[in-house]
Formats: sequence, C-alpha cells, structure tokens
Amino acid sequence: MDVTRRNVMVGAMASGGGLAAAQMAPVQAQSPSGAMMFPVAPVVVPIVGSDKLYQVRRIYCIGRNYAAHAREMGSDPTREPPFFFQKPTDAIQNIAVDTVVDHPYPSLTKNYHYEVELVCALKSGGKNIPADRALDHVFGYALGLDMTRRDLQRALGDEKKPWEIGKSFDHSAPIGPIHPVDKVGHFTKGEISLAVNGTIKQKAGLDHMIWSVAEQIAKLSEAFELKAGDIIYSGTPENVGPVVKGDVILCKLERLPDLSIRIV
Ligand code: MN
Repeated sequence: MDVTRRNVMVGAMASGGGLAAAQMAPVQAQSPSGAMMFPVAPVVVPIVGSDKLYQVRRIYCIGRNYAAHAREMGSDPTREPPFFFQKPTDAIQNIAVDTVVDHPYPSLTKNYHYEVELVCALKSGGKNIPADRALDHVFGYALGLDMTRRDLQRALGDEKKPWEIGKSFDHSAPIGPIHPVDKVGHFTKGEISLAVNGTIKQKAGLDHMIWSVAEQIAKLSEAFELKAGDIIYSGTPENVGPVVKGDVILCKLERLPDLSIRIV
C-alpha cells in the first residue's frame, strides 16, 4: 500500500472509528487525516537480479573511517573516532551499470571532491544492535560516491557551523544498483578504487576501515533506531581530490560492477 492510501485510511479510522480505532492503532491514530496535497516520489535504487526496487528511508554517512583519510583531513585517528552525518534521501543519483551518467557540477563551490565508498543497505534494523548480529540486518551492498563541496565543508567546519551545504546537497549521493547479500556475500575486504580520466586517485583495502560494516551498524544503532531502507555510506579512503566539468570518474570495488559519472 502506498503512503497516500495508508494515511487516508488511518485518517478515516481516526475520525470515524472513535475510541475503539484509536485503541487498536494508537500510534497511527495520531497521524493527521486528509488527502495528500501533492505527491512526493519515493526515492528508490534498483536491485540487481530483481524487478523490485529498494526504497531509501535515510542516508547515513561515516566520516573519517580510514586512518589515512582521517589524517589527510587533519585529524588523528588514534584520538578521534569516526562519526556520522546524513544526506537527504533525495540526494540519491542512480547510476546504471555500463553507462557513464552525467553528474551536475553543483553551485557555490570551487573545490568539488570525490569520495568513493562501499554502501550497505539494510533490510531491517533496531536500536542497540550488537556488532555480532549486525550483518543479519544487511540486505545488500552498492558502490557509491559521497560527493563533497570541500571548500564549503572546510569553511563551515572552521567556523564550527553545520557542514550541511558541503555534504548534503542535491545529487550528492551517486549510487550503483544494490547487490543482495545472498548473491555477493558481505564485504569485509577487497580493493576499492577511484580513477579520474583514467588515472588512479584513490585505492585501498576495505579491511583498512576503522569501523567495519558490522561495527558501523552497531554504533549507528546506539544513536538512531535503524530501519529497513536505511543505507550507510561507509567512508572513503585517502587521496580525495577535486574534479572539474568534463572529468570522468570511474569507481571499482572487487566483486561489483564499475560505477562511472561524467561531471557536467
Ligand atoms: Mn565520505
């Protein structure tokens, strides 16, 4: 059932069903009643080998999850643990396999950076998930880019302001299709890399992550109740850098197809 129909039905229950309906569904009965004024499209990512779509609920990102990248960003990974931030769900830009998709150079920046990342997609969630059970919640994996207006991120950070404009803008989350765990397994090692115009810029082993995917889920679930539809960008290795219009980015991750965008 889509969101519009469900809310309309809940609204009908709340207004016409009285106390009995409210007791049956106390949480939903608190939802406002009425028809949707306008549609808001769900954000979806294709699933490899399926005609079903993965609906994205939230995009979590991990900062400074590779020690060498933490150092290049000016922090000491032995003293400062990784941390989380979010992008808006509709920052997703779907990148089909075997295509080079145009990616718009955003406004306001003069230093637009790539960050290649493994992305984990959850099929379930919870709070305070133990690390040794965390991978049970993973539906699949994708290759993604955490595109960043680095100049704005740095300037805002220096001023101790939220770095929203540097990280959480439209199209800032290119992502390939999701590969289900039952087809590709989990990703604890293997090489991840990024090239610009044929020159390798980033290259590292996933085993260099400070927090593994299981630990990311466990840590994140201490702060937020995780749910199906939540995806986690797991952080980027060292050697982030700028692109300009016309550049072609090619991302690789062992066992997944390549992902490629052209900056336009
Ligand atoms: Mn990142």
